[in-house]
Amino acid sequence: MSFFRNLTQKISQSLKSPAPAVRFSAPPSNAFNVRPVEPAEEMINKVRPVEIEGSSVGCDGGNGPLGHPMVYINLDGKEPQPCGYCGLRFVQKHGHHHH
Ligand SMILES: [Zn+2]
Repeated sequence: MSFFRNLTQKISQSLKSPAPAVRFSAPPSNAFNVRPVEPAEEMINKVRPVEIEGSSVGCDGGNGPLGHPMVYINLDGKEPQPCGYCGLRFVQKHGHHHH
C-alpha cells in the first residue's frame, strides 16, 4: 500500500504549501505579427483578457519588447484587471468552483 501512502503525502504537502500565483508569460512577440509602430493601445484592445485559474497573477510582460519587472495583480471580482506596465488584461476563469 506504499503507493497510497505516497499519494497521501503528496496531497498533504500540496495542501500545506500556499497556492502559487499563476505566472503568465507571453509567447514570443513574433507570434502576434505585431508591427512596432502600432500604438500599444490599439494592440491591447484587440487582445482578449487572459483567463487565469486563481485569484492572482504575476505578469512580467514575457521576454518580448513589453517585458517589465514582475508585478502581481489581484483578480477579485469578474472585471478584467489590466497590468499597470504592459496593459495586458487578466480575468479570473469562469466556472471554477471554490474549495
Ligand atoms: Zn504586464
